[in-house]
Amino acid sequence: ASKNAGRNQCTLFHEQLHDVVLEYVYLQSNMKRALENEAFTIYYQPQFNIDNNSLKGAEALVRWQDKDLGLISPDRFIGISEKTGFIKPLGLWIIEAVFKDLSAWRHRHYPIIDVSVNLSAVQLHASDFIESVTAIGDRYQIDPTMIIFEITENVAIDGNPAVLHTLETLREKGYRIALDDFGINYSSLSYLKRLPIDIIKLDKTFISQIDKDPLDLAISRSVISLAHEIGLSVVAEGVERISHYNILKELYCDAGQGYLFSRPIDAVSFERDYLDRTIIPFDIPEN
Ligand code: C2E
Ligand code: MG
Ligand code: MG
Ligand code: MG
Repeated sequence: ASKNAGRNQCTLFHEQLHDVVLEYVYLQSNMKRALENEAFTIYYQPQFNIDNNSLKGAEALVRWQDKDLGLISPDRFIGISEKTGFIKPLGLWIIEAVFKDLSAWRHRHYPIIDVSVNLSAVQLHASDFIESVTAIGDRYQIDPTMIIFEITENVAIDGNPAVLHTLETLREKGYRIALDDFGINYSSLSYLKRLPIDIIKLDKTFISQIDKDPLDLAISRSVISLAHEIGLSVVAEGVERISHYNILKELYCDAGQGYLFSRPIDAVSFERDYLDRTIIPFDIPEN
């Protein structure tokens, strides 16, 4: 019986592997057409200031709306696009789509908010990145101080001086830089020395058990106090429960985002439910 089970598991493994390969090939070979056919779209996840529950801003998160696969999450295609280099045109399309939304919102006189855009290390390696961003910013008359670019720690791993220079130039132009998923990589602290940043995004793996695990609580408290001591602000991700929120408030965490407040939503819903509200601050649900 155990032999049989082994063989079945093996078959299952091969079938799953087959599915993974098929999906990879499908996504890779349809990406370019998807961009041409406007199948990519930007979702926005609101972020709130924790001291007074007012809307701080939103994180822009890309989605791929496919006729066969439905809504495809970025975890399934960003990695592929980085390997093929397709992230360069896709990344610029994302920046343009966000700037276009911001420009439309400005014309409707909504309060000014921060908008965060995720960047891949690959995008920062392109020598004309600054030029492209500046051109798009000028076209939509975007004030750079409204934009936060989120980078992950792997940007720093190769220690490429050109990448550091690009980040510094972005900051000189007024853009802010956030270090995303902070704490999940080996020797995260050393990146605080190496990277020019303004904001730390405390990874959701520390938040999910912050109300139960004393170690997560201690790590989060230390990261927040360290960040404040060196002049950085902290955004917690993955705030799902009221107990997460209450602890983050006690720790003086600056801002948060997560399912407690809202999932990422399309631009029309974000405008209707968050920009067009006269009721500020946001009510924290009792859950
Ligand atoms: P990220 O930048 O760390 O984004 C946060 C992810 O956590 C998002 O997943 C968001 O939907 C999810 N999330 C938000 N609140 C909660 C919560 O309360 N609980 C849990 N469990 N999850 C929550 P998403 O949208 O699937 O994006 C996944 C990753 O894909 C992002 O992680 C980011 O690294 C990458 N990504 C997304 N959009 C872009 C983009 O435009 N460009 C690039 N280069 N990468 C992107
Ligand atoms: Mg992010
Ligand atoms: Mg993150
Ligand atoms: Mg993440």
